[in-house]
Amino acid sequence: MHLNPKDFPDSAYARVLREGRAGRQFEEPLEAEYQLSHLWRVRRRVRIFFSLIAILGLWFIVDHVRRIGLWSPSVLLRFGAVIPAMIAILGVAWSRHYARYYLPFVRVLVPLLGGLMAVFIAQDLADDRPELLASLSVNVIGLFFFTGLMFRQALLACATMLLAFVLAAYAIGLPEPVLVRCMVMLGLTAVIGAIIGADVDGSYRRSFLEAAVIQQLAASDGLTGLMNRRAFDDHLNQVWQHAIRDQRNVAILMIDIDFFKRYNDTHGHQAGDEALRRVARVIDGFAKRPLDLAARYGGEEFAVILYDLTESDVKDIAERLRLAVQHELIGQALDEAGRGTAGAMTVSVGAGIARPTIERTPASAIQLADEALYEAKEAGRNRIVVHGVAAYEMLHTGDFVLPSHVRSGRRESAP
Ligand code: GH3
Ligand code: MG
Ligand code: MG
Repeated sequence: MHLNPKDFPDSAYARVLREGRAGRQFEEPLEAEYQLSHLWRVRRRVRIFFSLIAILGLWFIVDHVRRIGLWSPSVLLRFGAVIPAMIAILGVAWSRHYARYYLPFVRVLVPLLGGLMAVFIAQDLADDRPELLASLSVNVIGLFFFTGLMFRQALLACATMLLAFVLAAYAIGLPEPVLVRCMVMLGLTAVIGAIIGADVDGSYRRSFLEAAVIQQLAASDGLTGLMNRRAFDDHLNQVWQHAIRDQRNVAILMIDIDFFKRYNDTHGHQAGDEALRRVARVIDGFAKRPLDLAARYGGEEFAVILYDLTESDVKDIAERLRLAVQHELIGQALDEAGRGTAGAMTVSVGAGIARPTIERTPASAIQLADEALYEAKEAGRNRIVVHGVAAYEMLHTGDFVLPSHVRSGRRESAP
């Protein structure tokens, strides 16, 4: 699938893609979000890698103790620093708080551990055990791909490790040709790790942004940019569970533009689309709290979820919304003076206030608001009707109650 950044909804993710900054470190708070998702992606390999390294490390330490004996500074360093650092990393990698504490821990502990291991291996080389050099190469590759460190952190840890190796080798007095050969091999491994690491980092970042944008596209309405019906249903389900736990009300406003067909017929579909966008912008302004949501429900109908409000608050909001739409679109007509009444547009609002329980589904709240909307339409349009919790308790879900003149087959027609 080819994504065209121009079609993306306006969001922090889309902006980074549009500006071609997908492969580089993001600004906060996007970077924190990315790091979290990255950590979840790599957590299994992080756990496996450090478990293997711990086993390998233990084996080396046992081997070292067998050769040197228990009481030497290098053995004490292994017991005093390497083993505690290893236990700390393993603990945080396998803990419930992995997402929160892992990175701050490893960005300090991994360079420390890497540096110490480089010193030990330089010592082993001087003791004529060159085969251990291979484990340093494993560490270099591991840093980039198995520690979960961000690319720059891995690069820094790698540089620390190689520097520690060179310094230790000098201090121990490793012959220069041996040191040069080792550094060429290790340097080459590091360069390969860094090149592929940078590449992988860039494509992880890009796919993180694209996945986020696709998710937003799937949830938003293409014409108005509001949430779409599917996102509305998902959100209502979540809010419903929330409200059951907290014993709160959930109000739904159903908003339908009055005589919109006539508007389309008079001014054309493009003017109709523009009017829909303007109404959407106004409605969006009424759902700003975290659990509230405004959506395009379909056609020229919109829906708003309002969490935990009293009946009089809901009435007040519905009325202000109705007036705001009227003003917005009449304002447009005045701006374009002389072009008739293109902007004169009103909405009818039906509000239902539900008290969610585990026995009832969100469909009941939608039905209540729908019935209120029908009443508003039948009473002449450009008005609000609110059905409160008392009406909700009486509602028979599934039996849509139409006003009497609609039941008898007479539906008011557009003037
Ligand atoms: P009422 O007051 O009873 O709601 O009358 P109405 O004309 O608004 O209702 P009706 O359901 O008869 O017509 C809805 C119109 O909305 C018909 C359709 O052409 C128009 N419509 C639906 N979606 C869009 C859209 O995306 N763009 C445009 N321009 N018009 C749309
Ligand atoms: Mg309508
Ligand atoms: Mg309609």
